[in-house]
Amino acid sequence: KAKNLGRDRHEVFNEDMRTHSVSQFQLEMELRRAGEGEQFQLYYQPIIDLVSGEIAGFEALIRWQHPERGTVPPNDFIGIAEDTGIILTMGDWILDEACRQIRQWQQLFPKVNPLFIGVNLSSRQFVQQDLATTIASVVQEHQIDPRGLKLELTESVAMEDVDSAILQLLKLKNRGLHISLDDFGTGYSSLSYLHRLPIDSLKIDKSFVDRMEIISENADIVGTIVSLGHRLKLDIIAEGVETMAQARLLKQLECQYAQGYFFAKPLPREAAAQLLIQDKHWHIEK
Ligand code: C2E
Ligand code: MG
Ligand code: MG
Ligand code: MG
Repeated sequence: KAKNLGRDRHEVFNEDMRTHSVSQFQLEMELRRAGEGEQFQLYYQPIIDLVSGEIAGFEALIRWQHPERGTVPPNDFIGIAEDTGIILTMGDWILDEACRQIRQWQQLFPKVNPLFIGVNLSSRQFVQQDLATTIASVVQEHQIDPRGLKLELTESVAMEDVDSAILQLLKLKNRGLHISLDDFGTGYSSLSYLHRLPIDSLKIDKSFVDRMEIISENADIVGTIVSLGHRLKLDIIAEGVETMAQARLLKQLECQYAQGYFFAKPLPREAAAQLLIQDKHWHIEK
């Protein structure tokens, strides 16, 4: 019936909308409460230097420990946090927490190349006029070297409005902050703009790393991104490395950094610290 009558269809549409917005609203309420109730946690996934085999740094990844639903993955709530603006307060908390952690780890585990933590920035945060000032003050408050923080921005957000992105990135760079272009290769039109973006590293998206030891096209793409990155004097990090064969191939292709389940999953703070205490190394033969 609803298929044929315009009015009915309209009502069905409203009904869907209502159900949709009730659950959105509920999730929104729960998200707000979660922030107050300390249900968020940062997990840390090590990023390995394939040359030395050591941990070079970590990526901070948020986890929501919901009292009834258990662990809710970020893909299930970052979107709504962005739509509602909750991501802004959440983002401030993430930055503060990550800076506190990097300060502690840099003090406990001093290295020639100090440990860093990569923090994901959402598009909502990235367009904030005062982003650079805000981050600089958090960095200063925790008295860390700004290079200890690497801001991860997805390629698609950077490419949405390249000119504004360049201005914002320059403001961040002027504060001594490092920037990684995340999920690289999944956006579009990137190549012609890449050299204009003031960034420090490229994170090759997992989709190219997946089965690169089996599909030679994937390995070719990774190799091409690595050489392009080197020409632009960028550090290259491969995401989603799941096998030894992938790690070896990446090393052969001169990709210096890698992260993925093969090395370690994202870990709670204590478990991540254990790896540093053990001075964990991964020896990858070329
Ligand atoms: P991302 O920044 O590209 O993060 C990498 C994702 O890949 C993480 O998923 C990580 O757990 C997963 N991963 C790492 N290695 C492997 C692997 O070997 N195999 C597989 N299958 N997956 C791997 P996660 O933690 O679920 O996060 C998903 C996305 O949510 C992130 O993608 C990022 O866009 C967003 N996100 C996570 N934490 C934050 C945060 O603190 N702030 C913001 N704004 N976004 C976040
Ligand atoms: Mg990331
Ligand atoms: Mg990524
Ligand atoms: Mg990704």
